[in-house]
Amino acid sequence: MLGLMQSKQLMISSILTHAAREHGEQEIVSAAVEGGMHRYTYADAEKRTKQLANALKALGVGVGDRVGTLAWNGYRHFELYYAISGIGAVCHTINPRLFPQQVAYIINHAGDKYLFVDLNILPLLEALAPHMPRVEGVVIMTDAAHMPETKLAETHKVICYEDLIGAEPETFDWPVFDENTAAGLCYTSGTTGNPKGVLYSHRSTLLHAYAVQMKDVAPVGAADCVLPVVPMFHVNAWGLPYAVPMAGGKLMMPGFRLDGENLTQMMNDEKVTLSSGVPTIWLGLLQYLRASGKRLETVKSLMIGGAACPLAIIEGFGKEFGVSIIHGWGMTELSPVGTLNAPKPGMEDYSDDDRYRHQLKQGRALFGFEMKVVDEDGNEQPRDGKSFGRLLCRGPWVCSAYYNDTENPDGILDDDGWFDTGDVATIDSQGYMQITDRTKDLIKSGGEWISSIELENIAVGHPGIQEAAVIALPHPKWDERPFVIAVRNEGADVDRDGLLDYYKGKIADWMIPDDVVFVDELPHTATGKLLKTDLRQKFAEHKLPTA
Ligand code: AMP
Repeated sequence: MLGLMQSKQLMISSILTHAAREHGEQEIVSAAVEGGMHRYTYADAEKRTKQLANALKALGVGVGDRVGTLAWNGYRHFELYYAISGIGAVCHTINPRLFPQQVAYIINHAGDKYLFVDLNILPLLEALAPHMPRVEGVVIMTDAAHMPETKLAETHKVICYEDLIGAEPETFDWPVFDENTAAGLCYTSGTTGNPKGVLYSHRSTLLHAYAVQMKDVAPVGAADCVLPVVPMFHVNAWGLPYAVPMAGGKLMMPGFRLDGENLTQMMNDEKVTLSSGVPTIWLGLLQYLRASGKRLETVKSLMIGGAACPLAIIEGFGKEFGVSIIHGWGMTELSPVGTLNAPKPGMEDYSDDDRYRHQLKQGRALFGFEMKVVDEDGNEQPRDGKSFGRLLCRGPWVCSAYYNDTENPDGILDDDGWFDTGDVATIDSQGYMQITDRTKDLIKSGGEWISSIELENIAVGHPGIQEAAVIALPHPKWDERPFVIAVRNEGADVDRDGLLDYYKGKIADWMIPDDVVFVDELPHTATGKLLKTDLRQKFAEHKLPTA
């Protein structure tokens, strides 16, 4: 017997309709690319999004067409999120920090019909013009007054965003279609091989947005102001452009200036309560706050993910600034959030130090998301916080196949529907998962595994170290041994032996790295992760003193 409830399709457009109707006066504030702050309300955003939907249809964009965006976090990008998916097309967010060849590959692989580009990302597209023959036109996200001369006009139709939508009506009836229809496309920023496209649906996007805004997990409510520092081109800014309007919260879109000074000013001026970003962003903010003596006046929590959050960041914000860190884990293949580290009963009694250490874990599963850790033969490992293995997951916002993937035409799941994340992890008896490493970054010394993340976390706990990467180097006796490549804090004089001494007593002696070199900076991927492939190449010839 079926239930007798309405089976309404889960449509992304319904979020904006709800926000405009129930929270119409709530604001979206954006640091505009042209300069200054742009402010408007959800009610205004809905009208302009409807104008954009009409304009897209007039351009000939139809159901299933891919429309690419190369843009920072701002109000026009927000409008594109809703208008493109709202008409049944696919909003393909592209990371402008990728290598230009990768951007061209992605545009062509996705088959983007139109591209929308922010003013200061235009030079990238100009350089790529000969390599995107199937793109019908490029819309520059600005008004007539700021419209630049561009040589793109020699090869492509070039349109000004405000001219495009200006003459269109503010009314549009959002169509209702199958909730499994594709809505968004984001390519993984894989460090090897070509990027792979993850194709989100309306259903996966909505379920993920419900899950991340649960009070227990990420505190997003109508009284909050949320600043997604994580870019809208990186897995939908962790779903916040959907979750925040769903909850009726205020959105602060930070544009492209993401240094500590700008972030502090935006946070204090707009009374931000929650923000989200990768560890490097929060490290920059922490250093700025310390140097300037400024405080975060209203921020309660910072969500951190994308890479492991070191204890030094958790403690720094907690002890010195009274800001709590919500450590989370996710990936492009997941929309992206899988786990968040929210407390369980009893944890309020933890001492500060115990709480900070607990926050090093990447957290417990959101409802709807299942995970398990398996050994090399696929046997599930006990949830004891010690047994580690490959982390597998499944759920309604986990990818089942990549877009047009000729290498894996049958998808990427095992027979029981589990997706192998490529991460190695433990899960403890309370369900908190901790990432040990990427499978390919683990160090195998004398048959035992060493976690590079753990060694990096310890290194950045040294007061003289700003950032550290640990890689394996070959060793005649042990196969592989850990090697640290570190960046000193300004003015610090820590040397090799000082750093190696610092490891003593914090981990087993045999895990202590064999050598250290200091560099001025470390290479990162376009999404802020350490680029270890580069480091492995660069230090391939480095001889360990123990070898
Ligand atoms: P991406 O698809 O670019 O978001 O990268 C996903 C990968 O980033 C994951 O598979 C992890 O290896 C890594 N990652 C994400 N969040 C964390 C975290 N909190 N701690 C450690 N690694 C993380």
